Amino acid sequence: MPDHVAPARTIPDALPVLRERGQHEVFCGLTGIMWLHRKIQDAFFLVIGSRTCAHLLQSAAGVMIFAEPRFATAILEEGDLAGLADAHDEIDRVVTRLLARRPEIRTLFLVGSCPSEVIKLDLSRAAERLSKSHGPAVRFVSYSGSGLETTFTQGEDACLASLLRGVSPAPSTAPTSLLVVGTLADPVEDGFRRTFDALGIPVHFFPPRRAWDLPEVGPGTAYLLAQPYLAETGSALDRLGARRLPAPFPFGAEGTRGWLAAAAQAFGVSAARFEEVVGPAERRAQAALAKIREGLAGKRVFLFPDSQLEIPLARFLHRELGMELLEVGTPYLQREHLAAELAMLPSSVVLSEGQDVERQLDRCRAARPDLVVCGLGLANPLEVEGITTKWSIELVFTPVHGFEHAADLANLFSRPLLRRARLKV
Ligand code: SF4
Repeated sequence: MPDHVAPARTIPDALPVLRERGQHEVFCGLTGIMWLHRKIQDAFFLVIGSRTCAHLLQSAAGVMIFAEPRFATAILEEGDLAGLADAHDEIDRVVTRLLARRPEIRTLFLVGSCPSEVIKLDLSRAAERLSKSHGPAVRFVSYSGSGLETTFTQGEDACLASLLRGVSPAPSTAPTSLLVVGTLADPVEDGFRRTFDALGIPVHFFPPRRAWDLPEVGPGTAYLLAQPYLAETGSALDRLGARRLPAPFPFGAEGTRGWLAAAAQAFGVSAARFEEVVGPAERRAQAALAKIREGLAGKRVFLFPDSQLEIPLARFLHRELGMELLEVGTPYLQREHLAAELAMLPSSVVLSEGQDVERQLDRCRAARPDLVVCGLGLANPLEVEGITTKWSIELVFTPVHGFEHAADLANLFSRPLLRRARLKV
């Protein structure tokens, strides 16, 4: 094994998993529009949904109301839901009005919701029809952000997979390149691009900043997942012949090193060059983490299933910040994509998949953790009970990837504990 790869246990399948299929408390996939619309700058997201969907988007958007937003909700009225009006005619009318008002739109995502799924509104048919009437200037893509049996990060997965639908594989003679997959804040993406350039690795990022600046994807593509919740997108890339590079996720110094090392190995970068490029940033991150570790080491953390970032975060909290893992919950356990992460968890960890929220709350209260990572719906009641919480949704809204943001990520966990300590004085 080259010396830039972190040592790990080799049998991740050995970790037992508690599977629960009860009531769960999560946001729906529409939430992903909040970060996707900032990333894909020529796209518009039109949710075909209810007033509840519109409220969710408005409250999640919060601070962005001053800009002209690139998302909206076409509200299904009672007549649509009862089948009295033709919802497809309504969609056509709304889209025509929208495009007349916003001529800069190049890609329009038709986003399904719970109500559109319940009435079986076929948005892929609507996208096809609208492509004929408004294409090629505007492209139409559909995906579902419904909250039926999904969790909020799956909205991004469904969106990215929808962009790959209809893409043909690049010929095997196309030049070899790296594809980084998963939405990253622009400064994080720019930082990674500089690192890959220094390593001499040709790189593209997906999603691109303009929806149809899609790189060629085929047998010459090696891809690295930047987010752990992209099961459907990964399968779409596999179908195009791309090859996934197994790696931990780039959270913390250790995860970032392992992630970059997977690319370096695949592209034949020498160990010396790797150290030259990666070493200084890694050491800076380790030094910054050492200070934060003092306040977190030995603290006991309980992670509820919410963002699907839980397993990589647990690895980071345990190995780099010395926290004790009580329970690590995840909505879905994608063992293949998480193999490198699972191999780095302590063998004593309690892993749970899915949720039965009342039972999990009982386990949490009994364990008396120092910190709970959970969704907004659980945070307030737990705080009232004197349990310190961290909202997991903040982890997807904050730049936390890479060496440069390792300390920012750690601070997200130390801040609630500091706040609670100050309140006690
Ligand atoms: S998609 Fe479903 S869960 Fe999400 S806001 Fe709309 S109705 Fe609620």
